Amino acid sequence: MQLSRFPRIRLGHLPTPLEHLPRLSALLGPEIWIKRDDCTGLSTGGNKTRKLEFLMAEAVAQGADIVLTQGATQSNHARQTAAAAAKLGMDCHILLEDRTGYNEPNYRLNGNVLLDVLHGATIEHRGPGLDMNAEMFAVATRMKAEGRKPYAIVGGGSNATGALGYVNCALELLGQMVERGLTFDHMVTATGSAGTHAGLIVGLKALNAQLPLLGIGVRAPKEVQEGNVFRLAQATEEKIGLQSVVAREDVVANCDYIGKGYGIPADSTLEAIDIFAKQEAILLDPVYSGKGAAGLIDLCRKGHFTKGQRIVFLHTGGAIGLTGYTHVLPHA
Ligand SMILES: *Cc1c(COP(=O)(O)O)cnc(C)c1O
Repeated sequence: MQLSRFPRIRLGHLPTPLEHLPRLSALLGPEIWIKRDDCTGLSTGGNKTRKLEFLMAEAVAQGADIVLTQGATQSNHARQTAAAAAKLGMDCHILLEDRTGYNEPNYRLNGNVLLDVLHGATIEHRGPGLDMNAEMFAVATRMKAEGRKPYAIVGGGSNATGALGYVNCALELLGQMVERGLTFDHMVTATGSAGTHAGLIVGLKALNAQLPLLGIGVRAPKEVQEGNVFRLAQATEEKIGLQSVVAREDVVANCDYIGKGYGIPADSTLEAIDIFAKQEAILLDPVYSGKGAAGLIDLCRKGHFTKGQRIVFLHTGGAIGLTGYTHVLPHA
């Protein structure tokens, strides 16, 4: 598996730490470890850094002068894209979708939105329920007609190019495991636009890691989510010149922790945020890692993961979004 033939611009602080969580392990039973992709750097970090290393390299190779992307109001992906564009001296234009109906000032202006603006991105808004990628490509077409050179990045940076960042993460994690003589029984991650889950499963399977991966869904029902991840895994395999490495049954998502919908924290999300903050001083986010951790916690309590097992949780970042969610978080 050769990733070095793909253009890549180093944006992240890599490798990210792999840490044991003793207090959380004592609380939950299994030995819990965490892969700290909240520490990737790039404007408070998160999983989009790894994808953007490959996506922004493609933008530069194509001679782009402006990068477009889209996401929900508190999109971590939009914020990290704005940061990457600033670092590379490109303009950035973001389409934000009002997906939650929240109208609180902190939700609309604080957290990721505050950082989008600080990094110099321009923003336009859309109501809920549109095909946001189609909206974005329409804007890109208009920009081309005006003489700009736009590079459009699909929501979450989740295409085969972006997923290479998580093939690379699988390589990095296996290197750390070998170096430290560690094995894991299971890996758990939040899964949304699918690039993280797809890239990881391709990397893990291609390297014969024997490490089952569970995605905790944040938006779509299980069948839809697994289908999205599997299709992207196939496209990612093809991009790196592999075939039939990932089987459909390797792609497993549990979508029982979504609650009322995307971007709306469930009680279990808020409890997970509370537990990680108080037991391990680790900040989760209310949209993704909080739901992923809620799944991890519940599956330990239910005995799906048991004492004697060793589990690694991928922290995908997003904690800056907490400041956009003050209306649902505990107050002083
Ligand atoms: C985007 C994101 C995810 C989900 O990753 P996908 O590749 O979109 O599935 C998880 N956690 C955080 C914090 C994110 O911003």
